[in-house]
Amino acid sequence: MDAFTFQNPTKLIFGKNQVEKLQAELPENTSKVLLVYGGGSIKRNGLYDQVIKQLQQAEVEVTELGGVEPNPRLSTVREGVDLCKRENIDFILAVGGGSVIDCSKTIAAGAKYDGDAWDLVTKKATPDGALPFGTVLTLAATGSEMNAGAVITNWETNEKYGWGYAPYTFPKFSILDPQNTITVPRDQTVYGIVDMMSHLFEQYFHNPTDSIVQDEMVEGVLRAVIDTAPKLLENLESYEHRETILYAGTIALNGMLQMGYRGDWGSHNIEHAVSAVYDIPHAGGLAILFPNWMTHNLDVDEKRFARMAEKVFRVNREGKTDRQTAEEGIAALRSFWSSIGAPSALSDYQIGEDKFDLIVERSMNRGTFGNFTKLEGTDVEKILEMSK
Ligand code: NAP
Ligand code: FE
Repeated sequence: MDAFTFQNPTKLIFGKNQVEKLQAELPENTSKVLLVYGGGSIKRNGLYDQVIKQLQQAEVEVTELGGVEPNPRLSTVREGVDLCKRENIDFILAVGGGSVIDCSKTIAAGAKYDGDAWDLVTKKATPDGALPFGTVLTLAATGSEMNAGAVITNWETNEKYGWGYAPYTFPKFSILDPQNTITVPRDQTVYGIVDMMSHLFEQYFHNPTDSIVQDEMVEGVLRAVIDTAPKLLENLESYEHRETILYAGTIALNGMLQMGYRGDWGSHNIEHAVSAVYDIPHAGGLAILFPNWMTHNLDVDEKRFARMAEKVFRVNREGKTDRQTAEEGIAALRSFWSSIGAPSALSDYQIGEDKFDLIVERSMNRGTFGNFTKLEGTDVEKILEMSK
């Protein structure tokens, strides 16, 4: 394992009706709150009213920034930064999924930065402070509620990057009530499941693989998700299954499983390039690309994929070579994602080959990438070819 320091300052508040704790969690002396939310789901399911009630009880002034789009845009971040500066906001409350939270993180840092927030996302500049912010999560997927990462898209330049700067971009608190995820529609529920599984795989495929503790934890969370997902999709209103998936999504990317490892993150990098060119759901892209990343990299470490097959997908290894077991494992992943209704080819989004060159170029913007194995532009091209 690499040497590491682990510190996650986010206070996690999990369970039924926990939104009632919101008022008490606002930092003392908070007087002006920027309430950030998405396209309106929180108004339709009643969460908005609950949050407003809490903010009224806290006697704070509320400024709203609604309409944050899935795959949040730099233009919306800039709008939020302007609001914070103009209104002297002292706390940001994000109520929504990963997009709302990522947008809020970037606004929080941008509000304390003199230049353009894009400098922070592109890592041209580092923040030296941020407004404090908290979240009320409404969708199980990204783990953004308990990590310092944020993904922002610039539509003027077709660039989408992940960034973050601890401790400033960690939420002060995150409130997770499974009830608030019950209205997540089927397609977004599937995307969330694919995203959290992808986060687990990204951390599983690092090099060297020498922590049994981490392996067993990742495999265990993956099995819990794989066993629960079909039951949840049978009954989207099941509190019990929503709870399992919500908790899994947070654990999958709150740093617990990354101690001592950087993970690979190659599939995420290629996906960000695809969705910077075509505005498709993040996890839709991952469902298409990740199995092909695996097939492309099978030779790097067959044993690793064979272990995944056996421990995650319960493939029986008897009489099989490592390679056969590994291939069965990757096939099991493809068939599991198809069985829950995730896309499997770029053509599912009417994406052809015409912009492959641009996608390759965008994914190479920060040079070769990946830690399980380093990928070059030619590798990306091959993975895209396999994903047609
Ligand atoms: P999202 O983009 O935040 O939300 C997707 C859709 O779900 C929106 O249309 C939203 O509607 C709806 N929705 C959310 N909660 C709902 C609810 N309770 N009931 C009904 N509809 C609901 O989805 P996400 O998967 O959480 O976030 C995706 C973004 O996160 C991508 O940009 C991705 O790149 C990024 N990401 C970040 C990290 C990280 O660590 N920071 C990791 C992976 C991915 P409304 O807009 O109307 O609310
Ligand atoms: Fe992701």
